[in-house]
Amino acid sequence: MGSVGAKEVPVLLSPEGVRTDGRRVDELRPIRIEAGALKHADGSAYVEWGANKVMAAVYGPREVHPRHLQQNTKAVIQCKYNMAAFSVDERKRPGLDRRSQEISKVIAEALESVVFVEEFPRTSIDVYIEVLQANAGTRCAGLTAASVALADAGIPMVDLLPAVAVGKAGGALVLDLNKAEDNFGEADLPMAIVPQSGRLVLLQMEGHVTQEELARALEMGVQGTRQVYDKMRQALRDRYASAPSAEAAQ
Ligand code: ADP
Repeated sequence: MGSVGAKEVPVLLSPEGVRTDGRRVDELRPIRIEAGALKHADGSAYVEWGANKVMAAVYGPREVHPRHLQQNTKAVIQCKYNMAAFSVDERKRPGLDRRSQEISKVIAEALESVVFVEEFPRTSIDVYIEVLQANAGTRCAGLTAASVALADAGIPMVDLLPAVAVGKAGGALVLDLNKAEDNFGEADLPMAIVPQSGRLVLLQMEGHVTQEELARALEMGVQGTRQVYDKMRQALRDRYASAPSAEAAQ
């Protein structure tokens, strides 16, 4: 890999098809999910995904604040995605910026498509996502964490909602972009797919791919989200298999 500081573009894919972090094109970074990591939230989940560290906490259904957002026929999902000042190597300016607002909005919309919001009219389901360490793919890690936190809170959903980014780097489609691929690659397509139905409920795209590559990227996303889904379900199984003693220990 060339020097990033000198703005040299690193070799993103070796001739043997190996990426900068040693992965193959269809491999995810290591993922660890812990459901119910926080004591005071109604539901929570902690996700380590490669070098990303993300905590999600869920409250509700509860009274809507601010009141004017209340909807008579369904719950409103309010999401706050935040990157901690210490989450990146150069201190991020704290607080809401346009990127955080955009990510909060797309995550809330994706979650709304799986939560049975009509069951809880005039309430709010509040989702907080705190990125403690960022290394590309935080919206996918955040959405995955939020979905496990909603399940942990007992909020009824069609299904869990795993997310993953597919991208193009070094001329090839790659699953789960790392930081170098995110910075220097040709395209980044974060997506969330409902596992049972295959419904695509979030798709964003930065960069360029051909129509044929887009179709293949979606297929890689299906495979990738299935693997994330298995980890999410395992985290919930672990949580509820050990629920009484876990509660006592907290
Ligand atoms: P995602 O984290 O979902 O991939 P982006 O593509 O916008 O979202 O960001 C890619 C990565 O760039 C982030 O995961 C993070 O490592 C880094 N990054 C984003 N915003 C900032 C920032 N304000 N300062 C420093 N690094 C940032």
